[in-house]
Amino acid sequence: YLAFAQEDNFPYANLDGILHFASPASPADYLQHPIHTMKVGSLGTMHALGLAKERRARFLTASTSEVYGDPLVSPQTEAYWGNVNPVGPRGVYDEAKRYAEALTMAYHRAHGVDTRIVRIFNTYGPRMRPNDGRAVCTFVSQALRGEDLTVYGEGLQTRSFCYVDDLVDGILRLFDSAEHDPVNIGNPEEITILQLAHEVLELTGSKSRIVHRNLPQDDPKQRRPAITRARTLLGWEPRIRRREGLGKVIEYFRTLIG
Ligand code: UDP
Repeated sequence: YLAFAQEDNFPYANLDGILHFASPASPADYLQHPIHTMKVGSLGTMHALGLAKERRARFLTASTSEVYGDPLVSPQTEAYWGNVNPVGPRGVYDEAKRYAEALTMAYHRAHGVDTRIVRIFNTYGPRMRPNDGRAVCTFVSQALRGEDLTVYGEGLQTRSFCYVDDLVDGILRLFDSAEHDPVNIGNPEEITILQLAHEVLELTGSKSRIVHRNLPQDDPKQRRPAITRARTLLGWEPRIRRREGLGKVIEYFRTLIG
């Protein structure tokens, strides 16, 4: 879809569609680069929408479950407006993505740009960085190195992890659909972070211990997507179970961490 194609005449080669994913997504990254995170979500999205408008290209923006903040309802449907602290440390990511959604809808309504918004929930898979900072990468790296697994807080906060191939399938279906309102893409199978740590220990056969560290500020207590819209509008359903997906990540990380 993204016909960047010939380097000599980019960006004026054929451009049918733009999938705008530019942004840090790991809390460790966006806490380290707060201003760049805000700029790419706001100015970056504005420029990308301007290009889509000029070239009459279809435009998809990658939003996030973080627009729901620390949600007070579960599971989170697209109709939920969220519970975000705008001035907390995570606000740089959450608010940039909320702004990106608002801007995308404004270009759709005011200029008729053919837009899509996907709200991506926690995703994992091979080719992530071992030091990415997110829970799956961190636990698998620590387990393979024989280091302690660092569970933040008591580990009773929940997440729902989607394997990358399922996510990509959902995003391409959304891109090919005619749906302008946001659609959640994520795997509704919810677990606590402590359970995830135990699962990683079991699947790696590691003798590492689990230790507890301070819970970061504004860490969401629960997160689970309602995927009725993805199911009915896109015929989409996640297929890869967590143990199978984690197995693939472990296999990949073993090639990096001996
Ligand atoms: N987490 C943890 N230990 C780590 C990294 C993350 O306990 O080394 C927790 C984190 O506090 C959060 C959950 O795991 O509750 C998921 O964090 P992640 O950074 O993967 O993504 P988030 O869902 O917070 O964006």
